[in-house]
Amino acid sequence: MVTVTRAAIEPMAPADVEGWVAALAPGRQAPAVELLRRAAEFAVQAHAGQRRASGEPYVYHAFAVARILAQLELNHEAIAAAILHDVVEDTDIKLVDIRREFGERIATLVDGVTKMEVIQEFKGQTAGSRGEGVQAESLRKMLLAMAQDVDVVLIKLADRLHNMRTLGALPEEKQRRIARETMDIFAPLANRLGIWQLKWELEDLAFRYLEPIAYKQIARLLAEKRLDREQYIETVRTWLAQALAETGIEAEVTGRPKHIYGIWRKMRRKGKDFTQITDVRGLRVLARSVRDCYAALGVVHGLWQYIPGEFDDYIATPKENNYRSIHTAVVGPDGKIVEVQIRTHDMNEQSELGVAAHWRYKEGVAVDTGFDKKIAWLRSLLEWKDEVAEASEFVDQFKS
Ligand code: MN
Repeated sequence: MVTVTRAAIEPMAPADVEGWVAALAPGRQAPAVELLRRAAEFAVQAHAGQRRASGEPYVYHAFAVARILAQLELNHEAIAAAILHDVVEDTDIKLVDIRREFGERIATLVDGVTKMEVIQEFKGQTAGSRGEGVQAESLRKMLLAMAQDVDVVLIKLADRLHNMRTLGALPEEKQRRIARETMDIFAPLANRLGIWQLKWELEDLAFRYLEPIAYKQIARLLAEKRLDREQYIETVRTWLAQALAETGIEAEVTGRPKHIYGIWRKMRRKGKDFTQITDVRGLRVLARSVRDCYAALGVVHGLWQYIPGEFDDYIATPKENNYRSIHTAVVGPDGKIVEVQIRTHDMNEQSELGVAAHWRYKEGVAVDTGFDKKIAWLRSLLEWKDEVAEASEFVDQFKS
């Protein structure tokens, strides 16, 4: 997917292996860090002289992907595989070399990511000439390849996220194709796995290239009103935090960033126009227990008038990707609408990290999540088809 050139335009700075490994090391034991260091040195050697379309040394991409996964707190083998994920695809290194150097698990992960890449390319070549049927079929094949290992999918999602972050260096036609594929396949997949952190950014980046005018308009409006909005939110936040404390509810209240694609979708759903989006003010309440969540809801509705039809209780009825939270909207000071999400700290972690939260790496803790993992993954697969259908509708709307 990424253009690779061997030609050395200018001498590259020596790779900062120490710095990269240090960034991935916190919370890991010495043998794990040592493995990451070996993977880093191997990748630097393998990608020597290669550059991305942006002109950056290619290996920077490998490390960026590893860091995204480190933020999701994946185990060290998945991180090492992320560092090595393009080595078989883009260099002379063979899978047997990876297996010999790093063992079966890491080789399996690298192989899985490489296969997904091949399937995607096949899809890209055939979709144009033979249409939707082939696309659906290659999608299914891709699914089968992915289904074997959820870590493979997480590496692939992180890979796609970094490619989207650096999409500006590619020609426009390629940007649009990759953005569409991201909106069509990868963002729904991140959503299906419940990984909000990856989902929102994939969506915003894809939206930026698919609908550049709408994207810029919303981004500009958000930027213009930023200071006002932040001051307002801070006032309301302090007010609510105080009211909760007085009621004896221990909770953390924070302002909530709004994402451009989410705003756009909401505008369309509610038939609002761009000038009305300055309404977007969000608060999040993190409580210690479910009971405190409902108590906090009482406090919020006691302070401000709530807006009927804007209330959703995803704690009582979780979303299909297991998202849990209470959503409400109230009329705050000066008649401005404030959206409030109320959830426990656990629910919040679950919603940010999704399936990754289930078996994330905890040093020194025996993790017995094999069963959970299988169940969560199976459920994701079963519901995946609906997501893909929704995403295709979205793409159709763009076409029309
Ligand atoms: Mn890659």
